[in-house]
Formats: sequence, structure tokens, C-alpha cells
Amino acid sequence: MAEQWIFLNDEFVRKEDAKISVYDHGFLYGDGVFEGIRVYSGNIFKMEEHMERLYQSAKSIMLNIPYSTEELTKLTIETVKKNGLENAYIRLVISRGIGDLGLDPYKCLKANVVIIVEPLAIFPEHLYESGIDIITVPTRRNRPDVLSPKVKSLNYLNNVLVRIEAHLANVSEALMLNDQGYVAEGSADNVFILKKNKLLTPPGYVGALEGITRNAIIDLATELGYEVKEEPFTRHDVYTADEVFLTGTAAEVIAVIKVDGRVIGEGRPGKHTNILLEAFRKLVVKDGVPTGVLNKNLHVS
Ligand code: PMP
Repeated sequence: MAEQWIFLNDEFVRKEDAKISVYDHGFLYGDGVFEGIRVYSGNIFKMEEHMERLYQSAKSIMLNIPYSTEELTKLTIETVKKNGLENAYIRLVISRGIGDLGLDPYKCLKANVVIIVEPLAIFPEHLYESGIDIITVPTRRNRPDVLSPKVKSLNYLNNVLVRIEAHLANVSEALMLNDQGYVAEGSADNVFILKKNKLLTPPGYVGALEGITRNAIIDLATELGYEVKEEPFTRHDVYTADEVFLTGTAAEVIAVIKVDGRVIGEGRPGKHTNILLEAFRKLVVKDGVPTGVLNKNLHVS
């Protein structure tokens, strides 16, 4: 990659120079919010939805983002352009800003705003063809009344613990249950199961982030004639599903072929998962906010 430019508080700086104070409360306390967004063929996918979630997360924790949605949208587009990337991952981070060592957020006078645009390293393509093996882990999802999973905050320790458990079990992702034992979500993705042509994904109150990919898949599947329901389910329902897949900005739609040692369906990505992945990949190149960085080799059918 050529030179990488980071947007940091009103200016573009080189990656090596993009630095934030150790007194930033994002660093000291995980006090802040973020978004991960994709650029596909020069179009930012579901930009409005990501911005809405970011501002709602910020509102929930009383964090003032020092730009309007329109301004931040423009700045994000500019950062993509400045880095000249047609396909990329955007990370927007808004932290509470610099305060003292105490918790008091009112001492942080201005939020730090960071926009990073990078080529994306996701699951290698062969895993979309083979599907992935996952586990459920002892780490439980935060209860919505303790720290709402709908807030995409910088407090990802829960999710980091899941990744540690997945790593120890030598798998690439894992599912968290909520405090009542219902399946909530993966460390960085939402989960769907398909049984007898009916698609189920846990509702928000079970303890899942309202994933933008999840919502896009609900819409796509409904358009394609599937019955889709947001309904709580248990590990048993996952083990006995015909198909299981995960969705997320980074993961897109990835088939799960084994959960806790139980083979799902026929042990390969299911027909319906593949239909939805294909529909999703068609959608992302058509449906987005143009950045002006165009892929001249792109042919959209
Ligand atoms: N759950 C969690 C905990 C996540 O971090 C993510 C990634 N943002 C998702 C689900 C998937 O959400 P989205 O489709 O909006 O990326």
C-alpha cells in the first residue's frame, strides 16, 4: 500500500504520526464508541446506517461527537479518497478525549476523532468455500441492562475474552450465550440458523449488536421469499439446524459447519447460506455511497 493517511482531529496525518495522549479516556477506560464500515468497489456500504448507529451509541453514553453526521460522512469519504482505496475497511473511533487519571468524563473537554482506512484482511476466501468450525464459550454476553450490546463501545473486553477462548480451542470464531443460556452472537458477528427453510437470528434483547450486515441479510432473505424471524434460540437449536452462518462487516456471510464438535447439516456450506452470500455480494457492489475512487475494471451484472 502507498502512504496511509489517518484522519485525526481535523487533519490528515501519516500513519506513523497518528498518535493520541495516554490520558485519553478511550485508552484509560475504554470510554468511547466506534464503527467498522466497508468500501466495496468505490462505494461505502450502508453508510447512513453505520452513522446512525455511531451517533446513537454516542448519545447513549453522552459522548458529544464534534461533527454533524453530514460533516463526519464527508470526512469519511475524504479519508477513503485520500488513501485511494476502492476496497477497504473503515474504522471510525470517537473517544471521550483527554482528561485526568480520574474517571470523570466531564474533565474531557473534546472527543478525539479518528478515521482509519485500510485494505481489509478478512477470513481467507477458502474459508467461505469450506465453512468454519466454531465453539460456544463460557464467557457470557453483557446483559443489556448492564452494558447494552447495542452500544458499539470501545469496551470490547467481553469479546476479546471470547477470542482468547476461541484461540485456545484452535477455532477462528466462537458464540457467546446470554446470562439465560440463549445464543447471543459471535465476538464480532451475528448468528443465523436455518431450519426447514425458516431463518432465525436472536433478537436484540437477547444481547446482540444490531448488526448492519444482519439487517441487510434479513431484508435480502425476506425479498428472496424466506421466512425470517428474530427469535431466541438455544445451543440445541444450533446443533440441530440445517445451516448456520455468521454475518458481519468483516465476515460478510460465512458458513459454519461445526459447532462444539456437532456437524451442521452435511458438514459443508449449505445451499441457502450460499444463496444469501451471493445475494449479499451482489448487493454490496451496487448499493453504497460513492467515494469517487472507482474501480475501472468492475463489471456489475
Ligand atoms: N456483533 C458484534 C459484537 C460486532 O462487533 C459486530 C461487528 N460490528 C457485529 C456483531 C456485526 O455487526 P455489523 O454487521 O454491523 O458489522
